[in-house]
Amino acid sequence: MSPQPAPDLSDVFAYVDAHRQEFLDRLIAYLRMPSISAHGLGIAEVAQYIADVMSRIGLTARVIPTAGWPMVLAERNNRDVPGAPTVILYGHYDVQPPDPLDEWLSPPFEPTIRDGRLYARGVGDNKGQHFAQILALESLLACRGSLPCNVKVLLEGEEEIGSPQMPVFAREHRDELAADLVITSDGPVDADGRSRLRFGVRGVLSFELRARGANRDLHSGNWGGVVPNPIWTLVQLLATMKNDRGIVTIDGFYDNVDTPTPLEKEILEGLPIDSVAVKQSLDLVEFDQPVERGFYERLSTWPTFTINGLHGGYGGPGSKTVLPHEAFAKCDIRLVESQTADEIFAKVEAHIRRHAPGIELIRQGSMAPSKTRLDSPYTEPIRQGIAAAQEEEPLLVPAMGGSLPDYVFTKTLGIPAFGVPYANADESNHAPNENMEIERFYKGIKTGAAMLTYLGAYTGQK
Ligand SMILES: [Zn+2]
Repeated sequence: MSPQPAPDLSDVFAYVDAHRQEFLDRLIAYLRMPSISAHGLGIAEVAQYIADVMSRIGLTARVIPTAGWPMVLAERNNRDVPGAPTVILYGHYDVQPPDPLDEWLSPPFEPTIRDGRLYARGVGDNKGQHFAQILALESLLACRGSLPCNVKVLLEGEEEIGSPQMPVFAREHRDELAADLVITSDGPVDADGRSRLRFGVRGVLSFELRARGANRDLHSGNWGGVVPNPIWTLVQLLATMKNDRGIVTIDGFYDNVDTPTPLEKEILEGLPIDSVAVKQSLDLVEFDQPVERGFYERLSTWPTFTINGLHGGYGGPGSKTVLPHEAFAKCDIRLVESQTADEIFAKVEAHIRRHAPGIELIRQGSMAPSKTRLDSPYTEPIRQGIAAAQEEEPLLVPAMGGSLPDYVFTKTLGIPAFGVPYANADESNHAPNENMEIERFYKGIKTGAAMLTYLGAYTGQK
């Protein structure tokens, strides 16, 4: 990037400050409308509502039906800046069910302010965050009459149920989704309050293992030593899949794990983490094996193999001399960038055929990992835009440990994807008393406006 004067954002920031109450009132109106994808509640109404909001501020918006809940796609081009990048702002208008209701201090769909925070289902995940992006567009248009880039807003209605339509929608609407980059504002900032710029997510593969012995439970004295015990069979299989040094021993498991680039290594090692405090808060003496791995290195660059649950036999009070006839394990594997769910599932399958062919393997859901290059040409303008609005440098996070459907952008559409979360770390998303610090909502609006302005200024002159 050639050094040039930083874009002046004072008019836009002043506009946001002058409209604080109005913007908050409008967010509250949006949050009053339930849109629970798991129950199909309010979905069509909210999709139309948010499309109308975007139409009113000057975007071309429409609700597009899918085999599931509809997508909302809006756009506004800037033909004044030839070569300006096209940015997709992605978010989701659906929310999690609010249960358990009796743990909410104020009702989930009656937004309430306490101690500088707005409490409502969906305020952090994700209405407050994508509404901030929409208000950023509104503020830019009010102050400048045009947007600094070409912008598409894509809001889906099924994120909270695993985004089942996203891959299909991306393939079928490839032309309408043509863009240079994607920015998603979802999830929390760092625990210490600093903004994050996220480049990737791990993928996930879930499966179940079922071991069976006799056709019914038996007396452990009359049959023990004669009839095989499926719990032992399952435990012995699991013990061949990961050793006590923390190394997954499924053949070929690490074949496609990339070595982190020097830049990635440097960034991961520089991310702030108080390991002692984390261990204390969890009552842990030590982290998992291998102990020598760094905290963020574990979450970003290594796959995992987790036993989510192990079930079988008797677990009630006292003892029961039973020889159980079945045992189950639920497992997930978090995948890193070059691994695929199909590849790893095939390796798990081959491993089981070799070590315990009688055990049944059932594949469950999966989501591919995603990674955007740290040295993407869009990294600098986004970073500077965040810093200008948040008045602090963001932390760069190569990949977060969890999974999001970013692969639809990076792998299906071939567009770099950036995550810029606006919610506080204790937003309690998916839980009772979901909340967002109101100042973060305003800073989110300014950040959205600043990122687009920097993207337009730095990359608009190809
Ligand atoms: Zn969520």
